[in-house]
Amino acid sequence: MKKCFLTLTKAKEIISEFPTPFHVYDEKGISDNARELYDAFSWNAGFKEYFAVKATPNPAIIRLLAKFGCGLDCSSLAELKMAEKLGFRGNEIMFSSNETSAEEYVLARKLDAIINLDDLTHIDFLDTHAGIPEKICLRFNPGGEFGTDKDIMGNPEEAKYGLTRAQLTQAVKKLKLLGVKEFGLHSFLASNTVGNDYYPLLARVMFTTVLELMQETGVKFTFVNLSGGIGIPYRPEQEKVDIYKVSFGVKQAYDSIFTANGYTDIKLFTELGRYMLAPYGGLVTTVIHFKHTYREYIGVDACAAHLMRPAIYGAYHHITVLGKETLPDEKVYDVVGSLCENSDKFAINRHLPIVDYGDILFIHDSGAHGHAMGYNYNGKLRSAEILLQSNGTFRLIRRAETLDDYFSTLDIYDEFKKS
Ligand SMILES: *Cc1c(COP(=O)(O)O)cnc(C)c1O
Repeated sequence: MKKCFLTLTKAKEIISEFPTPFHVYDEKGISDNARELYDAFSWNAGFKEYFAVKATPNPAIIRLLAKFGCGLDCSSLAELKMAEKLGFRGNEIMFSSNETSAEEYVLARKLDAIINLDDLTHIDFLDTHAGIPEKICLRFNPGGEFGTDKDIMGNPEEAKYGLTRAQLTQAVKKLKLLGVKEFGLHSFLASNTVGNDYYPLLARVMFTTVLELMQETGVKFTFVNLSGGIGIPYRPEQEKVDIYKVSFGVKQAYDSIFTANGYTDIKLFTELGRYMLAPYGGLVTTVIHFKHTYREYIGVDACAAHLMRPAIYGAYHHITVLGKETLPDEKVYDVVGSLCENSDKFAINRHLPIVDYGDILFIHDSGAHGHAMGYNYNGKLRSAEILLQSNGTFRLIRRAETLDDYFSTLDIYDEFKKS
């Protein structure tokens, strides 16, 4: 079952200061989960999680995760700039980009970030524009389908990312000549995986590849970056990944492939986004309309511009009617936002308790790829973000956009100059 970290009382307290809609994050949930991840992988001395900034690019969230040892996985100029402003440098930043601009590589080098190259041709590009660092990571795409016969998890063959196996060998040889002393391997082959098998399976492929590359070329690999992709239970009948089982599966692969061949100090990195944040955020919205036509509609003051996943992926996000947690789900509704887009539906044919005007809905699991994917279509303004702190108080961690923000890029016209 889905539990909600926000009570009606606390929601009302927040709303009296900051009107709905807003995203709210649970500091305690984020902290416990981050601590558990580090504990699960504590058998690997150099383990480090590089939080995928794109999932929730907020300074308060990033600073909170940093307390547990997390670095940042950046993929764009803005994300690198955010890392720079927040004081991250060097081994605290993984730069996992693709179709990268020269400007981005220049900033990544200035920050001494670990650069994760997405293609063979990027070697010359990086050399020309920013120079080759002594430590570098390569992104591997083994092609084909990824998973087991029973469980196909992803389709790398169709993914735009990464180097082929043959290109990895070429890249390592070339980079060695260009002065690289330390290598890492990265791969991201499936997204939002359920169950405990994804990392262990991925680890086997990657560890084997690293061992081959070291034997073929004589270079030193010092880390393996398992990247993101661990999913969360969006649906009530799904279970949370058991991170200890995941870690144990990875350790078995490590022992049989690395330790057995005398490599005991290769570090493991992750770049989790969804797993770190999604369950610990919710979109809070107020019921403002009902409509009875061919369906029963609940109209809310949030829309797909605040949480895009249902509209673009048909993704399931659980909904709790705050204060009605224990009432039976006796009615069937579509819960919809105000965009002039028929896909703007948070839920379709959803069983909920009887809902009234002014009820406050908590749309679960918006903590990653939620606010971050927000946009301004239909002139909708991105919402505020609030942190519910471990001590029970709350704090604004991003203000809501205003109409002035919306019109700011039209200040080339007199009518839109800021008043
Ligand atoms: C998006 C992304 C992640 C995080 O993915 P999750 O599914 O949120 O864990 C990690 N690494 C890279 C390179 C990404 O693009």
